[in-house]
Amino acid sequence: MDFRLTPQQAAFRDEVRAFLRETLPHVPEDDLGEEGLGIGGWSPWFSKRLAERGWIALPWPKEYGGLGLAHIEQAIFNEEIAYHRAPAAAHRRGVFYVGPILIRYGTEEQRRVFLRQITAGGAFFCQGFSEPGAGSDLASLQTRAVQDGDDFVINGQKIWTSDAHRADFCWLAARTDPDAPKHRGISNFIVDMHSAGVTVQPLTNMADGHFFNQVFFDNLRVPRENLVGELHRGWYQTATTLDFERSSIASFAGVRRTLEEIIELARALPTRPPVSVRHMLIDLRTATETGTVMAYAVASMQDRGLMPSKEASLLKVFSSELQQRVAGAGMKVCGMHGQLAPGTPHAPLMGRLERMYLGAVAATIGGGTSEIQRNVIATRGLGLPRN
Ligand SMILES: Cc1cc2nc3c(=O)[nH]c(=O)nc-3n(C[C@H](O)[C@H](O)[C@H](O)COP(=O)(O)OP(=O)(O)OC[C@H]3O[C@@H](n4cnc5c(N)ncnc54)[C@H](O)[C@@H]3O)c2cc1C
Repeated sequence: MDFRLTPQQAAFRDEVRAFLRETLPHVPEDDLGEEGLGIGGWSPWFSKRLAERGWIALPWPKEYGGLGLAHIEQAIFNEEIAYHRAPAAAHRRGVFYVGPILIRYGTEEQRRVFLRQITAGGAFFCQGFSEPGAGSDLASLQTRAVQDGDDFVINGQKIWTSDAHRADFCWLAARTDPDAPKHRGISNFIVDMHSAGVTVQPLTNMADGHFFNQVFFDNLRVPRENLVGELHRGWYQTATTLDFERSSIASFAGVRRTLEEIIELARALPTRPPVSVRHMLIDLRTATETGTVMAYAVASMQDRGLMPSKEASLLKVFSSELQQRVAGAGMKVCGMHGQLAPGTPHAPLMGRLERMYLGAVAATIGGGTSEIQRNVIATRGLGLPRN
């Protein structure tokens, strides 16, 4: 692999940087993420600005509002978005989860309606997978979808549903055949979050933020045309597509930006940081570069049509644990000050460090825990037997 960007790719990166420099100062303040700190910002306004340039989903076919570009270009783009902490959370699930599944398995009508809306900077999705008794063992999910005429009637409960309180649609996994082996009786639906029969209750995380929710479905009617792909085959459709789409480049770019800020804080300390702290920062910088190169290698696999299965898990483990290590390093550099919350005088990085330290705990849980990812690497990557 040639690690240099081509002149066209470098020019594209510069164009994205210039756009972000010009646009980010105008993002509505409330859209900037938690406490205006630029963490996980949800901004329909910013999504629309990207849509105006055709920059919502770069690799999608032009007929659906993409630019037909390579995954490497998408990786370059994602890296800049994350490094600059641009508020891109609103359209993210539509682009990285929903769209790719619709492109492979959706009907032409579903593609025409939803892909077009997504690339226009609308149709924001949440993901209704986890349930109180089905997290790591997701295939045990119990939410039921029963066919009734032209509709499916849905009853059940989802939990930890990020952004359900502000999403337009839910990408829902529900059991359609209770008698089949558990992986074989699950189907995917697109649910309008404003339908009668959907109730969203907020959950507060340990950093006192509201990102995820409980969602209850009570005799919710979903038209048959919102079933995606084959009935009962939802598990397989989702699993293969998600593996294909994950490169974790954004996580490494976000970590790099935070680490640069922590190194600045260490430079500004009144006394020299101990050798152990210096070494820790160097190790983290090395790990960040390593992860970035690995993520680009995955984007290159995607462009060659290869399925990055164990690689996706490897990057998820590496990037999420790196987030925790970097946030921990920030706390070591700042000492007791690191615990100062946003809004407190003298809080390092305006309190972002405290928020990141608490927020990073969830990184090794959401999207599949590190233990589960390690199981995947062990079996699919190293050929070890299952436990
Ligand atoms: C910030 C955040 C956002 C989230 N957003 C969403 C969302 O939008 N939509 C959604 O559907 N879900 C979401 N989730 C839920 C997430 O997918 C689950 O929390 C995750 O899959 C783990 O499931 P669980 O919480 O039920 O834990 P459990 O599955 O009960 O696991 C508990 C512990 O046991 C370990 N464990 C379980 N099984 C095994 C095994 N076979 N081998 C080894 N160890 C094992 C786990 O690693 C974990 O440490 C989110 C979670 C977080 C933290």
